Amino acid sequence: MSDTLTTAPTDLLPAARQALKRYYGYDNFRPMQGDIIQNILGGRDTVVLMPTGGGKSVCFQIPAVVSEGTCVVVSPLIALMKDQVEALKANGIAAAYINSSVGQSESNDIARAAVSGHLKLLYVSPEKLLSEGFLQFLNRVNISLFAIDEAHCISSWGHDFRPEYTQLGALRNHFPNTPIIALTATADRLTKRDIITQLNLHEPKVFLSSFDRPNINLIVRGGQDRINSIIDYIGRHPQDPGIVYCLSRKTCETIAAKLKTKGIKAGHYHAGMTPNQRGAVQEAFLQDDLQVIVATIAFGMGIDKSNVRWVMHYNLPKNIEGYYQEIGRAGRDGAPSTAILFYSFADVMQMREMVTKDVPARQAQLNTAKLERMQQFAEAASCRRKILLNYFSETLHEECGNCDICRNPPTTFDGTLIAQKALSAVFRSREKVAINLLIDILRGMRNQAVLQGGYDQIKTYGAGSDLPYLDWYSYIHQMLNDGLFYIAYEEGYALKITERGHQVLKGQLTLPLKKFQPAEKAEKPTRASKKAASAASTAAVGTPEAQLFDKLRRLRKAIADEQGVPPYVVFSDATLQEMAAERPVSRVGMLGISGVGMKKFETYGEAFIKLILEDGGGQYVPSDSDSMFNEPRPRLAKAAADKTAGADKPVNDSEDATVQFHQMGLTPEDISERRGLALSTVKTHLYTAYAKGRELRIQDFVSDSELAEILTARAQLGNDASLRDLFDHLREKYDYFQLRMAGLYHKRLRGQ
Ligand code: ADP
Ligand code: ZN
Repeated sequence: MSDTLTTAPTDLLPAARQALKRYYGYDNFRPMQGDIIQNILGGRDTVVLMPTGGGKSVCFQIPAVVSEGTCVVVSPLIALMKDQVEALKANGIAAAYINSSVGQSESNDIARAAVSGHLKLLYVSPEKLLSEGFLQFLNRVNISLFAIDEAHCISSWGHDFRPEYTQLGALRNHFPNTPIIALTATADRLTKRDIITQLNLHEPKVFLSSFDRPNINLIVRGGQDRINSIIDYIGRHPQDPGIVYCLSRKTCETIAAKLKTKGIKAGHYHAGMTPNQRGAVQEAFLQDDLQVIVATIAFGMGIDKSNVRWVMHYNLPKNIEGYYQEIGRAGRDGAPSTAILFYSFADVMQMREMVTKDVPARQAQLNTAKLERMQQFAEAASCRRKILLNYFSETLHEECGNCDICRNPPTTFDGTLIAQKALSAVFRSREKVAINLLIDILRGMRNQAVLQGGYDQIKTYGAGSDLPYLDWYSYIHQMLNDGLFYIAYEEGYALKITERGHQVLKGQLTLPLKKFQPAEKAEKPTRASKKAASAASTAAVGTPEAQLFDKLRRLRKAIADEQGVPPYVVFSDATLQEMAAERPVSRVGMLGISGVGMKKFETYGEAFIKLILEDGGGQYVPSDSDSMFNEPRPRLAKAAADKTAGADKPVNDSEDATVQFHQMGLTPEDISERRGLALSTVKTHLYTAYAKGRELRIQDFVSDSELAEILTARAQLGNDASLRDLFDHLREKYDYFQLRMAGLYHKRLRGQ
């Protein structure tokens, strides 16, 4: 096959940008996407290393759209292919997949479409691609480029090695002139090397993007009472889908069951289930029918669900690589998301045993070292994102503003006395007690363990009764981390005092402690960090914006169910959030929302506009004010000027047709029926036209006496009143359309 990308790249970039707007509804490329696309359009091999959610798909999909021919995408998982193809189709891009789940006759249809040049993207599994006959078939297809997704699967060093991938090197021999782009979220050196050599890439340009995921709020919490913390969190975020990761299958099942008893739609997922069971749970999660999945790490690899709003780690992950990959499943749409890690010292002990058991000494050493880095992250008192990025050899120059430490910097105080109380209690109970019992002794509890050991007789019994359990828990962990004691896990996790601990006990050393912070505080920004955090925070619960967002989500879910696609394929959370904030009620306004392309506007635009109108407070273009009645003068003046000058105001043919029908004497209802448009759309047209200064017969919508009544009500309520106030004040006698039209009419009367 000859090189189909002969056009100079610079000629194609504007087309690429237009395609981004038209098909995806995005105004700009993200950093690197533009360069990557330019490189590919120049016909060069390309390697893309970008974190999950970074926007890799666009990097090959846009070149596919603007080039002649078909882009063949190799993808390892059937679920992933299905997802991407659905998303492409929803954007109006011709795409299909062929794998073992597709029947023969359907495959034939797809093949025909590819040969005739009607497919922009064709997804295949690696086995299929290299199977007998398929390569020959591909010879008849005009292939624009090959995209190898999840390219790290080629490396046996990686965590996700797939032997089929190693055969992909053959592509270069069969299609020496077709560019290959390899994409992955794994950035380590060995994987990168394997990708380049095994795929026989020709002088590839490697794009390594930042691995930062600034929209994820990083939080670490104490490990006590995790289950209630989880329930509490979900209670405060009842609409947000999320994943809880835990270590064992049994824990998975228990937690999921507990959540269910609280009325939470939760399911579990682990390798001990049959593929059918797993498939059903995954599907329900994708469709937002299950809010929460409690899973072992096996879950989440093959899914593209972009609206996962939070990820929790019930247990400490083995290493930072795993942790980062798992939290990366949250917030792929770029909207604010949360990662919560529960951490206790006992977890470290347990994990240490696990990672060193039955492995060669060298491996055990490496695993322990990695675990220690994980522990340092969990115990850190400085910006967590800095630590993470630093681990991946990236430097963040400022505090991130979106982790628990940045949001709520811990204050320190002289904790020597507190530490002495704890050390003394350990000492007097002959170093036989573990953390929980020690806290009970300090707090003067009278339970069986305390009484049996005779600990109610020691001098320090009850010496710390002024502090709550959670405070002690936090302080004792800080002391452990500071090396004042260690845990003898072979002796029932008893605490033993170190040399350093003795020094503190004797008053030779002082100990600063960090004030204990209750859990929810970490989710809320402090005044100081608000600015940084605001970029990554959603509308506060209960505000009109948040309420509209919930309504928009419900509409999205209803549409998704009807069409049999996952809700995030309809619109991403980020898109709905922008809609809730901007309240667009016109074509132009809706197309201005990031994530609303032409096709999606045609398919869903009307339904969403209708909902926003019903919610009572849409902002019509050309206004940008909150209330229809406070429309700023300059804008109107400009609209009028545009009209007379025939300036580059967007011409709206549909709106024009509606106005013509109105002038012929048709009612909005008639027009709606005649034109097959929703009534709300017709009303939007009429309002927008009237706002632009066109002459309409206002009395067709509101009579003179009604206008007077509305005017009086407005005068009574004052200028700051919202449309909703007016609506309520007039006891719902008029609909919003009438109120808006009346508002414009009054404004004209005043000569504004
Ligand atoms: P990856 O494959 O790297 O995990 P995706 O390609 O799925 O990431 O993109 C993640 C999200 O970001 C998707 O919702 C996608 O539509 C969105 N996205 C990609 N590029 C842009 C862009 N230029 N502007 C806005 N959103 C984008
Ligand atoms: Zn931070």
